[in-house]
Order: sequence, then structure tokens, then C-alpha cells
Amino acid sequence: MALIEQSATELLGLLQRGEVSSCELTGAFLDQIDAHNPHVHAFLRTDRDCALQQADLIDTRRAHGEPVGLLGGLPVAVKDILCTRGTVTSCASKMLENYMPPYDATVVARLKQADAVILGKTNMDEFAMGGSCENSAFGPTRNPWNTGCIPGGSSGGAAASLAASMTPLSIGTDTGGSIRQPASHCGIVGLKPTYGRVSRYGLIAFASSLDAVGPLARSSEDVALLLEAIAGHDARDSTSIDRSVGDYRAATRRPLEGLRLGMVLEHFGERLDSEVAQKVRDAIDLFKDLGASVQEIAMPHSQYAISAYYIIAPSEASSNLARYDGAHYGFRADAADWADGGADENPLVQMYRSTRAEGFGAEVKRRIMLGTYALSAGYYDAYYLKALKVRRLIAQDYHNAFKQVDLIVGPVTPSPAFKLGDKSEDPLSMYLVDLYTVGANLAGIPALSLPCGFSSTGLPIGIQLQGAALSEELLLQAAGSYQRQTTWHMQRPDLA
Ligand code: GLN
Repeated sequence: MALIEQSATELLGLLQRGEVSSCELTGAFLDQIDAHNPHVHAFLRTDRDCALQQADLIDTRRAHGEPVGLLGGLPVAVKDILCTRGTVTSCASKMLENYMPPYDATVVARLKQADAVILGKTNMDEFAMGGSCENSAFGPTRNPWNTGCIPGGSSGGAAASLAASMTPLSIGTDTGGSIRQPASHCGIVGLKPTYGRVSRYGLIAFASSLDAVGPLARSSEDVALLLEAIAGHDARDSTSIDRSVGDYRAATRRPLEGLRLGMVLEHFGERLDSEVAQKVRDAIDLFKDLGASVQEIAMPHSQYAISAYYIIAPSEASSNLARYDGAHYGFRADAADWADGGADENPLVQMYRSTRAEGFGAEVKRRIMLGTYALSAGYYDAYYLKALKVRRLIAQDYHNAFKQVDLIVGPVTPSPAFKLGDKSEDPLSMYLVDLYTVGANLAGIPALSLPCGFSSTGLPIGIQLQGAALSEELLLQAAGSYQRQTTWHMQRPDLA
């Protein structure tokens, strides 16, 4: 197997035994990026010199017998929504096209502390709003399994970079499915951790009560490794959980015993593509062979999850994105576009208007308008407040379910990856894709997407496991057990 196709865990072993250097490894992944990024467009930016410099420093320290961090010279790709000091962090928006953060996000700082080599920044839907990676201001990412198809979103670049062997590890974010959906469509593993398990400091906010940073990789062991590096309490994030980080890698090796799985019957209804349903059911059968019991569980409010999410997320977005006003940082419209505007309008208002009209893409504007409407006086009770109540009921459904079962198992997305452009004209059809994933964000629980087969057209299909708050170890234990019996996660697309 080619070096770049090996798992991060295997590569870490090679690095530790001195069988490969971080420079060689980093160079190999950069070469793969050079060869395939022009048509996949997973990375918005890479910096070869900077990456090789980081790698060289780690190699030198290792050669001198100095201690090396957990990721010991492994390359990592970072979604362009996390601040990286001194390198552009655009959030795939024209608004932040030239934004140079003066600090590192905590996750980025932890990657550096763990001696990861940061390869570059990956493409995404603008401000993480979307499920297809088509909303990037800098052009879509394509699915390495079929470049006519979307890779899923919003962490589309993160997932595609793994499927195309451009990196062994990737950081993504998930507000309503943005780690799990692209993981599913690209045939890799993605974990949305418990809300607060990974710091949000330096993460450009979309919907702060839902946003989570998490790992994507090609196996559950690799996901566990990356989670160990980034998880943990952070005083700079007031919602960060102050609990010790689990031994996630050990969890992936633990055999399953008496696992109780729950299935939500409504999630296997008419909205679900029959091939996806079959592959997910096959995976559930395999869990049964591994000794799991499966029972149906009721989630009576899950049918309202999309409605609640598409009130709460845009409401928070309308507030979070108010800061992009052309005055503090980021894009400002050319004065020629506004200075001679309507004579009776305040020039400051004209400047705001032009800046936001030109700086944001269509989907971001749609979210801001939806959210501003839902929060406005007179509608607040009817929309925002009601959505919060529904959110509470959904969380209660999960709470009740986890009294009966350990994990909930089901689909990640209603269908395999669709064609680029297929849903662009119909925002509602795009929102409905989030049917199975937004619940975990509303309830703040961890959820994982795992490859479980391929469609007849050769596109990857994923299965979703959801667990109670802070059950990351159990999720990874189940994922590890499944992956020891299957090879879906080891398949790679033919990029030629
Ligand atoms: N697809 C969902 C949305 O558009 C989720 C996005 C995300 O998780 N960042 O809001």
C-alpha cells in the first residue's frame, strides 16, 4: 500500500520507529495535493515551505531524542473556519477573504502542541452553512469517488482530502451534520463530539449553541487519536466541559459486550433511499452478530428537528454575523459603491448595506434574513421561543431513549451523494438532507458516521451511531469493533 494510503496510526508507528521522516511524509501528501487538488478542490490553501519547516523541526527533535507530542509529525488538514495565526482564515467567504487572525484557535494550538504538521486549510460551505460544499465563495469541492457529485458539507474539503489521500487526518466542524454527512459521502469516519468536549475558542461562530469541532479520518483508531489531541477543557470557552479526556484509542480496541442498540423506526421511512436503508440494515445485522441486541425506540419529536434547527441555527447566525459590518475587520465595499448613494441615507448605513450585500453569498443572506425574522419583536414567541421548547423535547426524547439503549443506530443521510447543482435551486430540499443529523446537535450529544457500504453506482454510504453525552468511548468502541469485521473504510477511489 502506498505511504499516503496508510492509516494515521500506521504512519505514526513508522515515524516513531524512524522508518519514515515527517518531512518525507509531509512531502508525499503535498505532492498528492498538487496532483489532485486542481480537480477535487479540497484545499483552499496550502503552504509547502511552512509545512516542511514544521516537519523538519519535529524530525530534528526526534533525532536528538527529545520528546515528541502525540501526533509526532503527522500531517493534519484544518477546515478554514478555525483561526490559524498569521495565515488567512476565510470561512470560504468573500467577507473574510483576506482575514489574517492574530491568534490560533485552541484546537489549532493543541495540534501544534501535539506536533502535528498543518498542511493547509480546507474548503467548506460559506460560514459552514450548507450540506454540499457548493456554497463556498471560492468554488465547490468535488467528491473524489465521483467528481460530478458533491462531497457533502459543510466540511466537504475535510472529508474529500481524506478520501483523496491528501492527508491522514482532518479537522471539521458540525453544527447540524457537517462532519457526519461529508464523512458518509466520502467513505471515511467522522465524529461530532459532545457539545463542549472540544473547545470552540477561535472557531468562527455560526450557531454557537450547536457548533462542535471534531475529527475526521479513515478509521476509528485515527479518529480516536485525533480526538485525544484536541479534546479537553479550555478556560477560554465558557461552554467547555471540565472533565478528563478518555483513552479513546484503547476504546477502539475493546471488544463489544452486550451492546444495546436502538432503532428509530421513523428514520427508515419513505424519505430514505432503499439502497441506503439496506446497507444500514446490513450493518445493524453485523452488530447483532457481534452480540448486540436491537430494539425499536420512540423519538416522537424527531420529526420536528429540522423545523426547530432551521429556526435556531439561523437566529444564532443572524446575531453572530452582525459583526461583519465593514468597520472592524474583513471586507469593506469600495467607497465608490456606496459613498454617492441615496442622498437621504446615512453614509454609514450605506457602507454597511453595500459591504454585506457584496461580502456575503446567497445562502448566508438567506440565513440572516430567516434568523432576523424569527428573532424580531412579534415573531420571537411564535418562532424562536417555540423552537427552543421543541429543542428541549427532542433532548428529552434522547434522554428517555438512553435509559433503554446504549447507542442509537440509523442512517446519516437520506441518499448517497447527489450531483453538483441538483439541489442548488431548492433550499428546502437541501435542508431536508439534515433530517437525521440535526437531532444530535440540538441535544448536544456525540454522534459518529462510519462507512458501511457502497451504492450500485459506487458511492459510499455511512451509518450513524449516536450516544449519550460524553459517550465518545462507547461510540469508538462500537466503531472499532465494526471496522475489525469490515473493509469498507479501507476502500479508496480511483483518482486517475
Ligand atoms: N447542513 C446544515 C446547515 O446548512 C448543517 C451545517 C453544519 O453542520 N455546519 O445548516
